[in-house]
Amino acid sequence: MSQMVANRNALRVLVVEDEMLQRWMLSEQLKDLGIGQVIEAEDGSEALHRFQEQRFDLVITDLNMPGMDGVGFLRVLVALRWQCPVVITSALQDDLLRLVEEALAESGSQLLAVLPKPLDADRLEALVDQAAAVCNMHPEVPRHHLRVGRAEVYEALAAGVFEPHFQPKIDVGTGRAVALEALARWQHESKGWISPVDFIPILEGDQGIIDLTMLLLNKVCDGLRRLDREGFRLNCAVNLSRSLFGNAGVVEQISGIIEAMGMAPDRFTLEITETAVDSDPGNMLASLARLKMKGFRLSIDDFGTGYSSMQALVRVPFDELKVDRSFVTGATHNRRSRIVLESTLQLAARLGQTTVAEGVETSAELALLNAAGCDLVQGYFFSRPLPESQLLAWLRRQPAMAAA
Ligand code: C2E
Ligand code: CA
Ligand code: CA
Repeated sequence: MSQMVANRNALRVLVVEDEMLQRWMLSEQLKDLGIGQVIEAEDGSEALHRFQEQRFDLVITDLNMPGMDGVGFLRVLVALRWQCPVVITSALQDDLLRLVEEALAESGSQLLAVLPKPLDADRLEALVDQAAAVCNMHPEVPRHHLRVGRAEVYEALAAGVFEPHFQPKIDVGTGRAVALEALARWQHESKGWISPVDFIPILEGDQGIIDLTMLLLNKVCDGLRRLDREGFRLNCAVNLSRSLFGNAGVVEQISGIIEAMGMAPDRFTLEITETAVDSDPGNMLASLARLKMKGFRLSIDDFGTGYSSMQALVRVPFDELKVDRSFVTGATHNRRSRIVLESTLQLAARLGQTTVAEGVETSAELALLNAAGCDLVQGYFFSRPLPESQLLAWLRRQPAMAAA
C-alpha cells in the first residue's frame, strides 16, 4: 500500500474540464489522493498545449466542451502517438457514452474507464492506482522527458536550421529511383540529428508547422534544382500535416513558393496521412482539390492505419497510395495481413493510383511486394533518408547496382 501511495506522488495528471468549479473540485480530489502534479485545461486545445510542454501519466477529460471537445482531443493524441491512460467523465446518457467508448477504443485510445458525473471517489482512487501500475510496468520509459523543448524548437525554426533528408522511391520493375521523399531533420548543436517525431508535434497546431513546411519546401526546391543539373530529374514528396489545413491561405502559400522558386507543381507529391483526411480539419478537402487542380500530385500516406480508409479514398482524388509499414512487415509472416496488403494494392491499381510500399527492409518483403504488383518501394533495404550530397553519391552508384 505505501508503495502505491509513493507512486501516486510521482504521477502527473491532466484534468480537462470546461466547468471551473468541477475542474477545481476534481483537482482537489486528486491532490488529496496524493497525486504529485495536477495540471488543468479548459478544453481540448488547451490540453494539447499542455501536452506540448510535457507528458502525462493520466488524463481525466470531460467530453462535451466548447472549442475542441474530448473526443477530438483524444483522437489527436492518438494521431500524434502521445497516448497515455485516459478516464472520461461525462454527464451524457449511457448509450451515447457507450458509443463514444467504442469509437475511442477502436481508434487506439488507452481508455481506462468512462465515469458518469459526479465522480465516485472510490472509483477515482482505484483508477489512479491503475495508472500508477501502468507506470510501474514500464519504468524504463523516460516518461516526462522530452528530447527537446518548445522554446528550443522555435529558436531553431527562426534560425532556419531544419534540413530535408531524401529517401529514394524505387521502381519495383527497374530497380531504379524514380522519386524521392523529403523528411525533415534537425542537426542539433549538442544532441546530433533529431527526428521529426520529436519536433513536429511541438509545432503542430499553430504557425510553427506552416513555417517549417515552407522552409522545407524552399530547401527542397534548391536541392531538386541541383539534382536536375546533375542529370537526376526526380519527383519529390513532401509531408503535409493535417493542422496546416486549418490555415486559410495554405494553398496560396505552397503554390507561391513553388512558383517563386521556378519549379513546376507536378514535380511534387504532397503526402497527407489518412487520419488527417478522416477528420477534415477546416477546409482540408477543398484545399486538397485546389492543390490537385494546380498540378500537385496527392498521396495518401500511412494507408490502413486510420479507421475510415475507404472514405478517404472516395473523398479525395489521390494519385498515389502509400501502404503503411506495419502491413509490409506483417505480410511476410501472416497470411491474413498478406491478403489485406494484396487487396489494398489491387484496389489502388483499379482506382488508377500509383502504389508505394514504405518501410521495406528485407528482400523477402521486396519479393512479396513485387509478386503483389506494387509499383514503388521505399525503405532501409535500398537506402535510409540521406542528406543531399550523400543522396547524389547514391544516385550515381545506381547503374552499377542495377547491372550487378
Ligand atoms: P512518414 O511520412 O511515414 O515517413 C516515413 C518514416 O519511416 C520516416 O521516419 C523514415 O525515415 C522511416 N523509414 C523509412 N524507411 C524505413 C524502413 O525501412 N524501416 C523503418 N523502420 N523506418 C523507415 P522519419 O523521418 O523519422 O519521419 C517520421 C514522420 O515524421 C514521417 O512519417 C512524417 O509523418 C513526419 N515528417 C517528417 N518530415 C516531415 C515534414 O517535413 N513535415 C511534416 N508535417 N511531417 C514530417
Ligand atoms: Ca510520408
Ligand atoms: Ca508513412
